[in-house]
Amino acid sequence: MRKPLVLFRKLPKGVYGECWKQEGVIIIDLLKNTNPLRTYIHEMLHFDFPNWTETKVYETEIVIWHRLLLRKDGQRKIFDLYKQLFNRKCRGRKRTPEGL
Ligand SMILES: [Zn+2]
Repeated sequence: MRKPLVLFRKLPKGVYGECWKQEGVIIIDLLKNTNPLRTYIHEMLHFDFPNWTETKVYETEIVIWHRLLLRKDGQRKIFDLYKQLFNRKCRGRKRTPEGL
């Protein structure tokens, strides 16, 4: 499946991340996130399962996060996910959609 482009932008109050499925974009607000990786996992779930409700995405995010913490290789896995989040090469080179 195509990976979304991750952008870091200021979002409205109380919003940590957004998923723009059509545009293939995930937006994360780094200024208010203490755990951007968790927000990334959350928005990736919205991206991969656009029909899921907010509750289902949130519950799955919790399960994934806690599994990561319990894994023997959790440290490495989390590092790899952070690389995916911040590495421009992994983030693709899609043009920023209008208005972003
Ligand atoms: Zn959500």
